[in-house]
Amino acid sequence: MNWRHFALLGSCLCAAPVWAATIPNAGFEQANADGGAGPASWTTDQWGDVQATFTWTLVGHSGRGGRVQVTASGATGDAKWWGVDFAADGQDTLYQVSDWYRADVPTDLILWVQFADGTESYQPVLTLPAAATWTQASGPVTVPAGAQRLRVLHVISQIGSLDIDDVACVGQNGGGTIGTGKYKATVTFTFDDGWLSAYNMLIPRLEKMGWRGTNFIITTYPDKPGYQSDYILSKDVKSLMDRCHEVASHTLTHPDLATLTAAQWTSEITDPIPTLKAWGSGVFGIAPPYGSYTQPILAAMAKLYPYMRTLHPDVNQPPYNLHELNGHVLTNISQNNELEELLTRAEQIEDGWVILVFHRASADAPSDAYVTPDQFQGFLDLVQKHGAKVETIAQHLGLQQCTPLPTQPTLVVGDKSLDAPAAATSATAEGSSGTASGCNATPRPNAMWPLLAGALALLRARRRAAKPNVRPG
Ligand SMILES: [Zn+2]
Repeated sequence: MNWRHFALLGSCLCAAPVWAATIPNAGFEQANADGGAGPASWTTDQWGDVQATFTWTLVGHSGRGGRVQVTASGATGDAKWWGVDFAADGQDTLYQVSDWYRADVPTDLILWVQFADGTESYQPVLTLPAAATWTQASGPVTVPAGAQRLRVLHVISQIGSLDIDDVACVGQNGGGTIGTGKYKATVTFTFDDGWLSAYNMLIPRLEKMGWRGTNFIITTYPDKPGYQSDYILSKDVKSLMDRCHEVASHTLTHPDLATLTAAQWTSEITDPIPTLKAWGSGVFGIAPPYGSYTQPILAAMAKLYPYMRTLHPDVNQPPYNLHELNGHVLTNISQNNELEELLTRAEQIEDGWVILVFHRASADAPSDAYVTPDQFQGFLDLVQKHGAKVETIAQHLGLQQCTPLPTQPTLVVGDKSLDAPAAATSATAEGSSGTASGCNATPRPNAMWPLLAGALALLRARRRAAKPNVRPG
């Protein structure tokens, strides 16, 4: 029976069962029963211009592992251990795919999916950096409903080596028991003020989930003398946009607008616009500092900006009030159940939308202006468990489409990728040699290579888009 259930650990209120795949010989421990030299349930695979040797290593992350050594590469192709497929969870569409790996070049984690009618797709999960020591790769992936069979593929496509071990695939919706609502919520992560600590500690975690956020920037602060150790620079603002984050206005200098003269508040909401444009941003939204404004200010903002975000801690439901969107601040004392409650309410409403507000980050979160990175990760994990859609505000309102970077032409569906792979592939146990022929894995239909190439191209585009941009210090 390819099923087992275990309870979710931790403080999540939704202690629902989670489905976990039993992947045959996931740890590369068992030998091939039919006398072949390779590990049971694994064959090897290479295609295109890539040539590789495969080794069933003696030292994996735990016990033995599998090594792929690419000795030649070109415009197309990759190499990987190709495990037997396993049954998908009939209820889940959201999975967490993981393995342990070591590699001296970037590699890609992909989920192979087969549907009832035999059609297949490749769902990109993560592009992984080189790692000198055993490192866990773990990422979420949403597969279309109706998936029947799955495979976890960790592929290498350039000259170098990749070791893998302890592959896993876990359904995240527990058969639909997490979240009691009828609908999936949309969640937006917003970051106010442009704090460097959020940029360094929170946004990379958001990106690791494959998500992007909305950044309300005090437009005179980036590059301002004396502010550079606390606030991001204009180059960071541009980098955020390059990575498909949204940039929006948080006024010129962060005053309490309601206390200013009309001339003053007019300048505070109008004058950020040329700066946003100079950064290359569209003019999408504004968030008044401290959530403070008056009716005349509201009317003026509505003329200048397509939307405005408040600090009213509630779910947004259609028809959205674009000029007073609700935004819920999560602070150092917020617990997962505060977010759980918001998500659950949003799930009762069609197009329910939760906008979360964050400021600074630090490991010890000395005040409610901060969250800790661990706390933030807990919020991310909870949103993921709910299967919510995460978008920037401008994306959700259809104002912004971050154009994906063009895929590498060499990886787009092409003639070479349809060619048959080199037939001979050796799987070598360390200290002895032999082939892995006779393994019980099913060969892959050739017609699927263009799909795999497409998944790889997408991952590469993401890798360029999501290049880590952590400032020193
Ligand atoms: Zn602020």
